Amino acid sequence: MGLLVQAIRGMNDLLPEDTSVWQQVEKVLRQTMASYGYSEVRMPIVEKTSLFCRAIGEVTDVVEKEMYSFEDRSGDKLSLRPEGTAGCVRSCLEHNLVYNQEQRLWYMGPMFRHERPQKGRYRQFHQMGCEVFGINGPDVDAEVIALTYSIWKKFGIENDLELQLNSLGSANERAAYREDLVKFLEAHFDELDEDCKRRTHTNPLRVLDTKDEKVIEILKDAPKLKDYFGEETRNHFEKLCSYLDKLGIKYVFNDRLVRGLDYYNLTVFEWVTTALGAQGTVCGGGRYDSLVEQLGGTPTKAVGFGLGMERLILLLQTLGKVSAKPSVDVYVVGAGEGSDVYMLTTAERLRAALPDARIMTHCGGGNFKKQFKKADRVNARVAVIIGENEIANGTVTLKNMTDETFEQKEFSIEDAVAAIASMIGL
Ligand code: ATP
Ligand code: MG
Repeated sequence: MGLLVQAIRGMNDLLPEDTSVWQQVEKVLRQTMASYGYSEVRMPIVEKTSLFCRAIGEVTDVVEKEMYSFEDRSGDKLSLRPEGTAGCVRSCLEHNLVYNQEQRLWYMGPMFRHERPQKGRYRQFHQMGCEVFGINGPDVDAEVIALTYSIWKKFGIENDLELQLNSLGSANERAAYREDLVKFLEAHFDELDEDCKRRTHTNPLRVLDTKDEKVIEILKDAPKLKDYFGEETRNHFEKLCSYLDKLGIKYVFNDRLVRGLDYYNLTVFEWVTTALGAQGTVCGGGRYDSLVEQLGGTPTKAVGFGLGMERLILLLQTLGKVSAKPSVDVYVVGAGEGSDVYMLTTAERLRAALPDARIMTHCGGGNFKKQFKKADRVNARVAVIIGENEIANGTVTLKNMTDETFEQKEFSIEDAVAAIASMIGL
């Protein structure tokens, strides 16, 4: 039978062995955010299209080419969120969370971009992101970077990612630079590729981000943004670097790093790996002090990042740092008169006593041989065996499926609980 309807290209199902890995990664992310005192927020997946146009910028790849936008039945123009920051700021303004307050927030969930699907690039992907509001200094920029670094350390991949750092200066500094950059680009206009030609007049800083080797070569002689920095910007950047030095976090300066979204100023950073081919940026972020005002709030300092979870997981898998775990610890088998009821009720008692143990009851009958095969197939470490004797004595027999030297033995339910806990390492 042919499948009549397939999934949308670039939107993936996560199957049991995937979700096992995802849950392990999510657990580390949640635990890390909590350990830095950040609170979780959950925003809708759909927002008004105008939110993203305003926040991200009309002339960005995301808004120009990548958004899933549609009109709903009432004619409202809506989009699937391509990133989390815009919705997070909208939500904070709507619920008055940032006026004269500090907030350290994080979120995790699916994002949508209509891009060409390839390894590490999908149309539905997931980000874990954090946003800090109301704090000015480079100390919190350092904290946000340290936080990401601590995630890499927990997975043992801190040496597989390079921290690239840049400063985008203030709006005024960028405006002065922009003028000179446009002059430079106009002087080399014929040598630019189509994308860069277009950007020269719409969003010239994005030209710096080009992947075109020829343009990269030309840009070597272009004016440098850092030559336009005043004392405040220089101090912010130098302070941040000194904090990172003290924290033992290595970085490289990349003056072509401008980030894809329009709202950044001062600090921008990316964590990049060479292990994933062209999709090497696992996490990117920076400061966006004008966004809150741009969306109608009072001026509020802000810094954050977005971490691509598919890319993190691909990297962990490539480096052999995670693997799927079996979903069952204990498999309950049984045969004989009344075993069906005794299996169900005993499994409930064991689960109540061992809430962290994963206990599966064999269903559908069959002989012991067949049932043990099932126990093996689900990789259970312990089999709980129920026969006529056990039912009569109100006991269970335990078999350690991974340790041949363990002798199969009958236990009272209370003793079985302790024995199972020790066998599965609870
Ligand atoms: P790229 O240059 O790879 O397109 P970006 O600058 O568009 O990335 P951001 O908007 O900064 O990405 O999003 C933060 C992170 O989310 C990225 O560093 C990446 O890890 C991840 N990400 C972005 N787009 C995708 C996608 N289409 N599929 C999977 N992950 C993605
Ligand atoms: Mg992109």
